[in-house]
Amino acid sequence: MINNCTVCQRKISKNDIRYTNSLDTCILHCKKNTWYIEKNEQKDWTKSNNAVIYFWEEVRKIILNKDKDLDYQSGSSLDFRNIIFPIFEKSDDEIEEYDEGIIQCIDWHDNFYDMQNIDSEYPKYESDIRFNFSNSVFLDDIDLSDYKFNGIVNFDNVNFHGECRFNKTKFNQVSFNNTNFHKKVIFKDSVISFYSYQLGDFDKSIFYDEVEFINTTIGFEKSTKEFDIDFKGTQFHKQVTFISCTFNKGLRFFKDTQSKQLNIQNTNIQYLYIAGNIRVIIVNGNRKVFDKLITFLCSKITQLHV
Ligand SMILES: [Zn+2]
Repeated sequence: MINNCTVCQRKISKNDIRYTNSLDTCILHCKKNTWYIEKNEQKDWTKSNNAVIYFWEEVRKIILNKDKDLDYQSGSSLDFRNIIFPIFEKSDDEIEEYDEGIIQCIDWHDNFYDMQNIDSEYPKYESDIRFNFSNSVFLDDIDLSDYKFNGIVNFDNVNFHGECRFNKTKFNQVSFNNTNFHKKVIFKDSVISFYSYQLGDFDKSIFYDEVEFINTTIGFEKSTKEFDIDFKGTQFHKQVTFISCTFNKGLRFFKDTQSKQLNIQNTNIQYLYIAGNIRVIIVNGNRKVFDKLITFLCSKITQLHV
């Protein structure tokens, strides 16, 4: 007897069972801790190549159906909540054999959008769809380079176990609240804006490794937000760096935020407000003199280089 997934209620297909060995969760929501072998903090997914390809094919099918849905304009977000994401699919030249009938993605980071979705103007990766990834888990590295997300993207309560790369990525409205970043995070040559003051940007998120914003535009002119990024209750176990970035307004670290080191270099920024516990702050070579220099409240700074 074929059941529905206990998480998303989707009907579990025969193919799902073939790859998941589970009768009560679909390919998206099944546990994947037997899909890889972990060695020296690296996961080897070789033994589940075909399952990984099938997983991403199902993801792309859902996006494709949403793209074709004319009623979507008024509709809700694409529901990618509670999904357990395996490694991103490898490109077809890296895999020698795969099961018949499976559609392979063309390039290794085309997992959400490959040629079958976008037909022309490849590569485009542009989407007006809203994505809700809340409560999901990414078990390995995630690379969303070149993606343009015009709709809202929600990564609240997400666990990123691998590196996160956002290279030339555009987020019109994104949130990362209560999010755990276990490895390095890089935003490079990207454009990123957050929702609004009420909904939070990186509230209570934890960065266990470094985070770098390089040559990235943050915030937009008509935003009603007081600061482009608010770090509230955010924990940086290592350093946070902004190099050659352009802020619309500036950056605020609230009182309950902690970081070992903050670097702001060659950046266009007007406001910097620091009430959090940041031990070392290095602010130099910035293109614009701060309009409101720096407000330090209750901060326990041990070194300041301005
Ligand atoms: Zn499911």
